[in-house]
Amino acid sequence: MPIRTLVWNENRHEQTNALVRRLYPRGIHGEIAAVLSGPEVTVSTATLDEPEHGLASERLEKTDVLVWWGHAAHGEVEDAIVERVQQRVWEGMGLVALHSSHFSKIFRRLMGTPCALSWREAGEVERVWVLNPGHPIASGLGAYFEIANEEMYGEPFSVPEPMETVFISWFEGGEVFRSGMTYQRGAGRIFYFRPGHEAYPTYHDPNVQTVLRNAVKWAHNSAPAWQRVNEAPNRPPDKAPVPIKVKGPRLHADGEAGYR
Ligand code: ZN
Repeated sequence: MPIRTLVWNENRHEQTNALVRRLYPRGIHGEIAAVLSGPEVTVSTATLDEPEHGLASERLEKTDVLVWWGHAAHGEVEDAIVERVQQRVWEGMGLVALHSSHFSKIFRRLMGTPCALSWREAGEVERVWVLNPGHPIASGLGAYFEIANEEMYGEPFSVPEPMETVFISWFEGGEVFRSGMTYQRGAGRIFYFRPGHEAYPTYHDPNVQTVLRNAVKWAHNSAPAWQRVNEAPNRPPDKAPVPIKVKGPRLHADGEAGYR
């Protein structure tokens, strides 16, 4: 079964900025979709201005990995839809959060921290170092790769400690940044990947494209969806796997509903 991937983009800069339109005539989402599409991956796209931001429940249920690009319109993403996406991540949908999506509602909610950083737009060199050459997301890359023009993101990046740090970036102006990090929330695998400022042709870069393809494969959890992720059932003493004698007071009746 191919990995069912949905590329989501707020798709605003493409409409308001001629430079971005020239770099990405089919939109950032269209470019990334073309990069990812292949025999092992089926790709569709969704944008902010579609009904339900293109993220209807039925659509998310058929999505194995969601790729997210947002920047100027994070606040316009409806909270109910953010919760819906979070639920699907808990159930096992992968999430690849790109560049300025560090400040998206969905990423901040899943991290539980401010996800703040410093930044500078100067078209400087970004040298992306591979810290974990054996990691599947780094497959096919050398010791490092360079992007000739990028926006700088600098530490401290206020995210939780990741499971793995796959990349760290050095910028011409001197700062460093953890530019590829993995997380898991519930059954859902999350990868944050830094490059991708809309004013530069970053998603045309072959190394960046390799990372995107690898990231979708890594984020795919092939186990069946964890449908009962929100259930907290009471398991009374007589249902314990090993017979147990009740000691001390009992405040909850057998058969009482789980915690809510
Ligand atoms: Zn940017």
